[in-house]
Amino acid sequence: MNTLLPGATIGVLGSGQLGRMFAMAARRMGYLVHTFSPETDTPTGQVADVEVTASYDDLAAVRDFASRVEVVTFEFENVPSATVEAIAGIVPVRPAGAALYTTQHRLREKSFLERAGIPVTPFRHVRTLLELNDALNTIGCPAVLKTAGFGYDGKGQRLIKTLAESADAFQTLDGQEAVLEAFVDFEREVSVVCARGADGQVAHYGVVENAHERHILDCTIAPARVSGEVAREAVELATSLLEQLSLVGVLCVEFFLARDGKLFVNELAPRPHNSGHFTIDACATSQFEQQVRAVCGLSLGATEQLRPAAMANLLGDLWQDGEPDWRAACAFPNVKLHIYGKHEARAGRKMGHLTALAASTDEALCLVRAARAALIRRG
Ligand code: AMP
Repeated sequence: MNTLLPGATIGVLGSGQLGRMFAMAARRMGYLVHTFSPETDTPTGQVADVEVTASYDDLAAVRDFASRVEVVTFEFENVPSATVEAIAGIVPVRPAGAALYTTQHRLREKSFLERAGIPVTPFRHVRTLLELNDALNTIGCPAVLKTAGFGYDGKGQRLIKTLAESADAFQTLDGQEAVLEAFVDFEREVSVVCARGADGQVAHYGVVENAHERHILDCTIAPARVSGEVAREAVELATSLLEQLSLVGVLCVEFFLARDGKLFVNELAPRPHNSGHFTIDACATSQFEQQVRAVCGLSLGATEQLRPAAMANLLGDLWQDGEPDWRAACAFPNVKLHIYGKHEARAGRKMGHLTALAASTDEALCLVRAARAALIRRG
């Protein structure tokens, strides 16, 4: 594939906030963006040049979309393989379908990681209640039962505390295959966002620290408060995965850091990630610009972090008592507001985020939390 220069058209599968921030980076650099998803008036569609609304299974619509762009990337990895194959017959897909196929299914992903010699939490494949009971006996309780496909933000997950809960937990799977994994009593969760160019060049944003609430990312602190040794190992594991997946684009690797200092990979995302949103305001090149550069065959940009940062997600819950007080949050001069253009504020739905820049990560975290608290109207 030749290098695509500004003026070229990039297709994006999916139409959420990741596609929106990608489209903003791409348009800033002079590219055109078409988005494809089953929805209309979407976060990505609002800022793209063209918004196509059709089902991922409508292969005629998929082919028509592909024929109007020069490369296709995605912001949503749960796209059927047939869709990606139909596109790949017309234009390049970056990252390629193989990486997508591996990472969109927990069992395939964990088996790949295990084969690649990457530390993962012990796991077993579960299709029947008998297999679940066997798995619980080998892995022990507590354990986490997760559906193998199409899960995010803790959806399709269940903590099993005792063997007595197994039948009930199995019921909730509703016939879907699953993975049982050991519960990790982690000290903290960290992630590495990294990128690989078409020429094999690799770049990373270091290790960041993630705090979750109800299985949903709440805050990211960059850089993470971990030892140099842990940071080096996490970056080494992440960048070796880029190579092993031959990925061209952006990859996020999420880890559990156990209390004894051991790292376990929890999940891979072959695209920009929520834990990399701080890069828009805090780094020389954002994760979204990096995706544009990688998929267009340009050199990667510098990943240097200019100031310590903290990011806080804004979930739909904040709208519970009416529109949040934007003026109050914007009164913090070192806090940046990002809103995704979603029309309905449901509980747990990611509606936007704030990024704070400060002299230290602790200060940035205090600042971003204070700004988010200021959004809630009192009285
Ligand atoms: P996931 O969808 O697998 O990324 O899980 C969402 C969140 O649930 C993680 O970020 C953790 O906070 C928690 N979690 C998932 N799996 C485990 C596990 N095996 N042990 C402990 N916590 C977990």
